[in-house]
Amino acid sequence: MQSNSHKHNPGDFTPVINTSKCEGDGECTMVCPNSVFKIYHLSAEEKDRLPFIARLKVSAHGGKQARLIHAERCEGCGNCVSACHEKAVKLKKNQTADT
Ligand code: SF4
Repeated sequence: MQSNSHKHNPGDFTPVINTSKCEGDGECTMVCPNSVFKIYHLSAEEKDRLPFIARLKVSAHGGKQARLIHAERCEGCGNCVSACHEKAVKLKKNQTADT
């Protein structure tokens, strides 16, 4: 996992949100220096597409989850991965990254 002291170039990594785990608490939005995330309210259709347990969790937390609004800005600092108490965020290294 990336440490907070090791930044990469924008586009080297893409954050991946596990929608079965995300409870929309917004830790990622608070720690990301590049405003990659936003908390939003799921539509009824989006909730219906979640696995049953995830649907219960989301409903219990106000129907919110994080979404990526500027994934291309991610510098791979790892703050979001460390901050999420649900371990709902991972970083995927893009194939063009040379580190
Ligand atoms: S790794 Fe850093 S820059 Fe990338 S989304 Fe997470 S907090 Fe933002």
